[in-house]
Amino acid sequence: MNFSHADPYVDSVASFLAVLFIHGLLFRLIRERKPNWIEIPRKRHILALCVGLYYGLWGVFFIYRGEITHNAVIYINLRMNILLVTSVFFGRIAVSTSFIVIVIGRLIIGNSYLSDIRYIMILAAFYTICMIVAHFKISALKKYFFIIICALPALSLYYFTNFNTHRVLSAKEGIFYAWTFFFSSVVIFFAASYIRQSNEALVELKDTATNDQLTRLKNARYFDNRYARAFDRAVLLKENLSLLLLDIDHFKTINDEYGHQAGNLVLAEFGMLLRNHTLPSGAVIARVGGEEFAVLLPGVSDKKAEQIAESLCREVYQSVFPHQPKKHSVSVSIGVSSLYHARKQLFATKENLYETADLLLYQSKEKGRNQVSAGQLLEKGNFDD
Ligand code: GH3
Ligand code: MG
Ligand code: MG
Repeated sequence: MNFSHADPYVDSVASFLAVLFIHGLLFRLIRERKPNWIEIPRKRHILALCVGLYYGLWGVFFIYRGEITHNAVIYINLRMNILLVTSVFFGRIAVSTSFIVIVIGRLIIGNSYLSDIRYIMILAAFYTICMIVAHFKISALKKYFFIIICALPALSLYYFTNFNTHRVLSAKEGIFYAWTFFFSSVVIFFAASYIRQSNEALVELKDTATNDQLTRLKNARYFDNRYARAFDRAVLLKENLSLLLLDIDHFKTINDEYGHQAGNLVLAEFGMLLRNHTLPSGAVIARVGGEEFAVLLPGVSDKKAEQIAESLCREVYQSVFPHQPKKHSVSVSIGVSSLYHARKQLFATKENLYETADLLLYQSKEKGRNQVSAGQLLEKGNFDD
């Protein structure tokens, strides 16, 4: 028995780990760039297809390696690991795609019809096991061990029956390969779990760092950042920048009459209304306080911003909220300010622009709420709340 067989095994397990790592990296990039993209069900299928294709192509690479290094036994173990990983972590679409790609790859690369057919048979048996187990409602770890145990008879057939027409293995070699298969599978499982968990933790961390959990809008921290960047850019490029500050009217009444939880429901619904309202591209909507919100509109003129504010104000008043106070609707007061008016820059700093929108908001409150104030401030003393 020649233990130098283990060398390519170590190499290939290392390349498998790299395959997992690159996949984790790509997946993270997609999630970060297009956070909403993978939420859509049909897109999830496309993503599973891409994952299957990716792993399938690596499977073909392992076939190629097996052919040139004459270590087919090692590489069939790795191809089985590919089906294992795709079925347990990514489901049936992914494992089916990988399987099809590997079979096609084998038919193209393979040079013996008989061994190709036998090879495809053994892989098909293993694929069937993976498909059945992928359906079970058990943990990934249990699925993994279940498939490995089911794989042992198929592997024995491969090792001891001259299945690939190369040669029959000795019992010692068979045990060695079975162990290495088991060992590499366990290493690959824990590596894949680790990459998946750390990716998910990172996505969650980024989500909580930038989003408000109750309204699913951006949070104040994210807003401050974007606002500062948008302001500098607008000054530099002499492009307009409009800011809407919104505050729900008499929100305390909703809390007092129906309780804090009911108030939260209204806030969540309010967040959904803002998200669903059609806004110019580049708009940022954030919850900047308890029942206070901000809408940043880069490149939007003062006139257009006022129209947007008016339509938001109307929509809120006309919407039916759960737990809205008896006899009257939920309403909102809005202050609107813009960096430029008739090409003249009105504010030197972002603080000035924000403060003016805030003062205009309180002007709306003073004038009776459920309305928009834009552009001009009344005398300061007129709108102390
Ligand atoms: P105004 O029209 O002048 O804005 O009156 P208001 O009652 O909306 O304003 P006020 O500032 O008096 O009250 C705001 C209330 O919002 C008080 C606070 O308890 C409530 N609030 C702030 N954050 C939350 C939250 O996350 N959930 C709930 N349910 N209530 C909140
Ligand atoms: Mg308030
Ligand atoms: Mg309020």
